[in-house]
Amino acid sequence: MSITPLMPVYPRCGVRPVRGEHCHLVDEDGTRYLDFASGIAVNLLGHSHPGLIGAIQKQAETLMHVSNLYGSPQGEKLAQTLVDNTFADTVFFTNSGAEAVETSIKCARAYHQNAGDLGDPKRFELITFTNAFHGRTMATISASNQTKMHHGFSPMLEGFKYAEFDDLGSAKALIGPHTAGFLVEPIQGEGGIRPASTEFMQGLRALADEHDLMLVLDEVQCGVARTGKLYAYEHYGITPDIVATAKGLGGGFPIGACLATEKAARGMTFGTHGSTYGGNPLAMAAASAVMEAVANEDFLEQVRDKGERLRSRLEQFIGNYPELFECVRGKGLMLGLKMKVESRPFFVHLRDHHQLLTVAAGDNTIRVIPPLVIGEAEIEEFLDKLSAGAASYKVPEPA
Ligand SMILES: *Cc1c(COP(=O)(O)O)cnc(C)c1O
Repeated sequence: MSITPLMPVYPRCGVRPVRGEHCHLVDEDGTRYLDFASGIAVNLLGHSHPGLIGAIQKQAETLMHVSNLYGSPQGEKLAQTLVDNTFADTVFFTNSGAEAVETSIKCARAYHQNAGDLGDPKRFELITFTNAFHGRTMATISASNQTKMHHGFSPMLEGFKYAEFDDLGSAKALIGPHTAGFLVEPIQGEGGIRPASTEFMQGLRALADEHDLMLVLDEVQCGVARTGKLYAYEHYGITPDIVATAKGLGGGFPIGACLATEKAARGMTFGTHGSTYGGNPLAMAAASAVMEAVANEDFLEQVRDKGERLRSRLEQFIGNYPELFECVRGKGLMLGLKMKVESRPFFVHLRDHHQLLTVAAGDNTIRVIPPLVIGEAEIEEFLDKLSAGAASYKVPEPA
């Protein structure tokens, strides 16, 4: 037998972390890494936040799981917090980002199809955008035009049309009798930290209003304080109908959620959707601790300040290497370094030779997505490692 016990779908690297200390990871042989990857925008509070650990420990001792057959004081509390702090009137809890997007897709379809006398089964199509990433389930790979994720998994699910990201005309041209809504990342993450423009997001809102469409945002990566606002839609001066959130929400504990307005959730009636684990007391305790830490103006302002400082330092830095770097983009502590050369080998170089963890992304971009609790010391350490990495880097010869 040659297959590994872990199904070999990931080309895993040699870093094998066994312990986390604030913004650092320590691997099996004791090597320390500066973690500006945060488990892919997940560990908002770093790796050893006493409040988060305490909340999980306490809840684990008290009650871990009971299913959704029973009333949920823990779920009501977190849902109320999300409702109080966002556009949403109601929340469905999931265990992952892809499930949060799945729920959002179902919610948008049900808005049209399960609406009593207004119900229209022909409205099922979501207009999505090039280079989007929405997860790895059948519906969420179907929602992306990235064919590399489709290969081997045909047929794709019906009901998605792909428009050009950040191109309002291209989205408008796809609206037809089957359209149910738009599904868009306000800031593309995997696609290379590409923020949509304000005109584009406001234009989608206007088109949605005009045609009675659902504006569904995938904020799985950019949500939960990452950009210096609790949710990224706040940067755009728009109100969405449905938002999928996950990654940072549990600070490392697996949880996602579909947030919706009362109107948008009109089709999600008794028996239409469910999850065994979704919203279990342990997940609720973790996410409640995260929300308590991040959902306040003080914390959000700190994220914006740190983001601006990091960004201006990065802009200074790339000026020294005009042959390597094109630009810095993103918002808050969701930043991308777009390279002029292939970015993946540089990302590997930083990891293997300078113990600096970042995340590779599309469009030759390196994601700089640190824990939101970094301080001046971590920003300094990051720039030291990055500068040393750029100075020692030899662009590989094309094969
Ligand atoms: C990570 C991600 C997802 C999928 O989340 P999982 O928890 O991996 O299922 C969906 N959308 C976006 C924008 C993401 O970044």
